[in-house]
Amino acid sequence: MRGLLVGRMQPVHQGHLQVVKRILEEVDEVIIGIGSAQLSHTLKDPFTAGERVMMFTKALSENGIPASRYYIIPIQDIECNSVWVAHAKMLTPPFERVYTGNSLVQRLFIEEGCQVTAPPLYYRDTYSGTEVRRRMLNNQDWESLLPPSVAEVIKEIDGVERIQHLAKKEVSELNTDQSS
Ligand code: NAD
Repeated sequence: MRGLLVGRMQPVHQGHLQVVKRILEEVDEVIIGIGSAQLSHTLKDPFTAGERVMMFTKALSENGIPASRYYIIPIQDIECNSVWVAHAKMLTPPFERVYTGNSLVQRLFIEEGCQVTAPPLYYRDTYSGTEVRRRMLNNQDWESLLPPSVAEVIKEIDGVERIQHLAKKEVSELNTDQSS
């Protein structure tokens, strides 16, 4: 049996890893859909789909999860929510179960007759992409929220510098707007 987990994974954190481990107790294979695959280089979505694939691949390998048990598939957003499930199904191997805590994602799969489970959240206040990116921006401890191999990927791609640089650009644009 196969299960699908979809998320933006901006970036992959300990919560994502824990939920994948939990899903693999219930299914033989997990499909990890990297959502909003077309987005990168913004404060909300700083990392490319390829970078997020690399983060998840290394985190799963680091935790001894064999490659035969997962597929990591980038999924671009589309304008029409009503056909997004069909779009996701076109890109992924077949699956019997969907795992998500996102109410929109739950609703869209339920309306297509899929079996949807909301997995438990692990320390959602800290294990969240928003909190990781906030800490990166403010030079606070972000590494402890991530699998060590993901922290290494972020260092390799200068991810913190990217986020801080993007933030400066947006502030300077604001200043330009105010002076004009
Ligand atoms: P996310 O990375 O915030 O979360 C993904 C999943 O990881 C969650 O549903 C949850 O199950 C799990 N998770 C997160 N933190 C956790 C924690 N601390 N403990 C345990 N589990 C945790 O991503 P998201 O915002 O849910 O991503 C949904 C994606 O689907 C987005 O990319 C969105 O654009 C896409 N989408 C697209 C369309 C469209 O294109 N029309 C429609 C619906 C959804």
